[in-house]
Amino acid sequence: MKKGMKLVIDSDSANEAFARTVVAAYVTRLDPTLEELADIKTAVSEAVTNSILHGYGGREGEITVSCKLQGKQIEVVVRDEGIGIEDIEKAMEPLYTTKPEWERSGMGFAFMEAFMDELQVDSEPGNGTTVIMRKEIGRIQSVE
Ligand code: ATP
Ligand code: MG
Repeated sequence: MKKGMKLVIDSDSANEAFARTVVAAYVTRLDPTLEELADIKTAVSEAVTNSILHGYGGREGEITVSCKLQGKQIEVVVRDEGIGIEDIEKAMEPLYTTKPEWERSGMGFAFMEAFMDELQVDSEPGNGTTVIMRKEIGRIQSVE
């Protein structure tokens, strides 16, 4: 049985908060803790912001945010058809940014990596960027 969802937004920073809120609402069915929710929202926010700022850089374009569940795991995919990434490994290094003049800190991918269980980036110059993130909900049980 499929339970996924797909959200398509225009590349505009006004849509970023909406996208992360939609993903948060979607994952509620797994009964996440507030911390897990905050982690997912931060990761989605970083990925969508990257698509808006770097992928499209002010140009018009669409960003697709899709989610699906596999047991207690949520998979979130953020896809843009923007400029793409030349060197993915380098882009994923903490503190690496191609936009220091915009006062970016180069921590987006590091946050996605830290807050989610798995992070995969597929990209090619001219062919857009796909960020795939997975997180298992309820993995760390609180000890009473
Ligand atoms: P911060 O996220 O801290 O504001 P940042 O966006 O530069 O800074 P990352 O999110 O880690 O840092 O991204 C690193 C680099 O990878 C970016 O500077 C950019 O060059 C490239 N990048 C990331 N996402 C995309 C994307 N969707 N399209 C094109 N380039 C991207
Ligand atoms: Mg970023």
